[in-house]
Amino acid sequence: MRPFAYVRAHEIGEAAGQPGKFLAGGTTLIDLMKLDVERPAQVTDITGLPLADIAEQGDGVRIGALASMAQVADHPLIAARYPALRNALLAGASQQIRNMASMGGNVMQRTRCPYFRDTSFTACNKREPGSGCGAIAGNHRKQAILGTSDACVALHPSDASVALVAYDATLTLRGPDGEREVSLQDFNLLPGQTPHLEHDLREGELITAINLPAPPAGNGVYLKVRDRESYEFALSSCAAMLDVQGGVIRAARVALGGVGTKPWRSPEAEAALTGQPATRETFEAAARAALAGATPLEQNVFKVPLTAKVIVRALLAALAGEPADGHGDGQSTGQGQNADQGGTA
Ligand SMILES: Cc1cc2nc3c(=O)[nH]c(=O)nc-3n(C[C@H](O)[C@H](O)[C@H](O)COP(=O)(O)OP(=O)(O)OC[C@H]3O[C@@H](n4cnc5c(N)ncnc54)[C@H](O)[C@@H]3O)c2cc1C
Repeated sequence: MRPFAYVRAHEIGEAAGQPGKFLAGGTTLIDLMKLDVERPAQVTDITGLPLADIAEQGDGVRIGALASMAQVADHPLIAARYPALRNALLAGASQQIRNMASMGGNVMQRTRCPYFRDTSFTACNKREPGSGCGAIAGNHRKQAILGTSDACVALHPSDASVALVAYDATLTLRGPDGEREVSLQDFNLLPGQTPHLEHDLREGELITAINLPAPPAGNGVYLKVRDRESYEFALSSCAAMLDVQGGVIRAARVALGGVGTKPWRSPEAEAALTGQPATRETFEAAARAALAGATPLEQNVFKVPLTAKVIVRALLAALAGEPADGHGDGQSTGQGQNADQGGTA
């Protein structure tokens, strides 16, 4: 690890505007610094800031950026109103990591692409703009199939962000010039020809809160399929919310993980569901609509049929009022799916 200046912030205003990187749980940042991927000249420790509250805000809930994944998953307001977020959090990482890892750090986590994380690979446009993409011609089994470009196919790894975009979450950002609010959907950027620009966070800006508006009517689920039942990132996942009345879908939300270069909300799937009968055939049509724009490579073409099945299963679970959670870490409710099980849907 390279030498860096360590600053401990005691007030939010003191943290906002600091150069370099903020240190929250450290479960991503320290790893990447050890790997020499992140090389901040300064690290500002924000763990002492009063940003861990989870509280009602209007009809919704405000989650402080330093609330841990575990605290949010276990909070009664989240469990009662935002079950897909709870399930996404419990399906992510291990209990130890969830205890340390913050929500702000979760939405800011970087891709697990091996060409990004291993500096012995010289070609990574995300790490070194203009150096090429090792994954496209190399190992891309776990990479994205939606939102990719010829410069980058790196996957966005956050489970929680998938549920958060389905719930229309926004971030409160505090910079040296004051506060602004941005939707999480707009916050994460597509790679295009500039994959090193991952989000709309300006120099010195601090995420202070994640804001959830009132949840949509109906049931919400998060289904995650991964290579193994223990803690593991998603091969494919789906946050699904359905409001069904008299057998007809009045409103739907669909967001995908494990397949997008950013947490992937699918307006195409939602349009294919709205106003239609709540049947498996409708759900299959929605899955086709969600994946019509997929651009898989040779090794990850399996993610297209896999994700279609994940979407259908998540929607069936939402319809049935089931949780459909995909816990790892020995917390399985029996509904977590490994890749093989997911493929038999
Ligand atoms: C073994 C392992 C397995 C994992 N599995 C999963 C998984 O299955 N699903 C999943 O979703 N995640 C998984 N994760 C990722 C984990 O969720 C993240 O590492 C964690 O959420 C990051 O939070 P943190 O507080 O530790 O962030 P840090 O490591 O402290 O920071 C991460 C980044 O966010 C920035 N940052 C942190 N807080 C703020 C803020 N308030 N404002 C602005 N920038 C900020 C930091 O500067 C840094 O760039 C896994 C991690 C590990 C190590």
